[in-house]
Amino acid sequence: MREVWNFSAGPAQIPYEVLQKAQEEFLSYDNSGMSIVEISHRSSAFIKVMEETERKLRSLLHISDDYGVLFLQGGASLQFAMIPMNLKKIGKAAYINTGNWSVKAAEEAERVGMQVDVIASSDDKNFNYIPAWPTDFSGYDYVHITSNNTLEGTTFYEFPQTGDVPLVADMSSNILSEPLDVSQFGLIYAGAQKNLGIAGLTVVIIKKDLLKHQNQLPKMLDFNQHYEKESAYNTPPTFAIYILGLVLDWVAEQGGLERIAERNRTKAQLLYDYLDQSEMFQPTVFGKDRSIMNIPFITGDDALDKEFIQYCEQHKIATIKGHRLIGGMRASIYNAMPIEGVQALIDVMQAFEDLKGR
Ligand code: PLP
Repeated sequence: MREVWNFSAGPAQIPYEVLQKAQEEFLSYDNSGMSIVEISHRSSAFIKVMEETERKLRSLLHISDDYGVLFLQGGASLQFAMIPMNLKKIGKAAYINTGNWSVKAAEEAERVGMQVDVIASSDDKNFNYIPAWPTDFSGYDYVHITSNNTLEGTTFYEFPQTGDVPLVADMSSNILSEPLDVSQFGLIYAGAQKNLGIAGLTVVIIKKDLLKHQNQLPKMLDFNQHYEKESAYNTPPTFAIYILGLVLDWVAEQGGLERIAERNRTKAQLLYDYLDQSEMFQPTVFGKDRSIMNIPFITGDDALDKEFIQYCEQHKIATIKGHRLIGGMRASIYNAMPIEGVQALIDVMQAFEDLKGR
């Protein structure tokens, strides 16, 4: 059983069963007498881990053979630069600006020489909604979105229909939270440290026709190199890939993405329902764009926020403090957070409200 419920936005709580399994086999992987972190990435045992992990991801997300799956390093942040470097043809890309991570992605694209057009933005309202976007994407190498905004707590529930122009999505904070039609995207990327396991691994799902390009790139920054070398051009993040494999088994055991999505919606609804009736706590996002992964909320009084965060720490609720740019609190309730964890948070919020006589 958990000693605390961890609401961290990332690295985040991962399924307890995954931690237990990793612990059980940590000293000797597959009766080899060697730990998973000691075996060669070129050994048949580890190649099998990589292949199986990719197969499981493909199966859960129904990824067709038109796409390559890459296991990379450098976090989602390196993708902010790698994507424009690899996808550059015309030299112009469209970005929808929905928060801090979109801003960073666009800035980095500019830094590597891409002309960035911000075609829609919600910065006028502290990014508390998903803006409408134009429908003509001609003349762009790709269109970039951040599908879930980890700091601000908003999500795209519909995606731009970009036709022949590849749609690129940073799904770091909501990949595997619900079923997904991968065929709508040219490229999907995600740091693993939320729904995919632990830090150190970045997953890229890329349409194969985007792999080939004329750009002269260092090999480590070239998607095609990684694809051709089956994500083992250099030493891949072996432990993080192994953990991803365990996480994918866990997702399948839970009943797959449909079941996971149902549970995620129930958890989020429980918390939003509480927030919507609370006299003390207010959510910062209203309406249809609310994220089911990251739920920011405030009291409107910085000192009271601080007191509540301390109260949480005394009551087995960890890492509820909001991001420094947004303030207040944030509950990140990724796949691994069970309904009991969300209920425990609500009970603590209610107790705090009672204590304060509200
Ligand atoms: N994009 C999103 C949506 C994120 O939530 C994060 C943070 O965790 C990042 C990008 C940055 O990821 P990384 O730390 O893996 O570079």
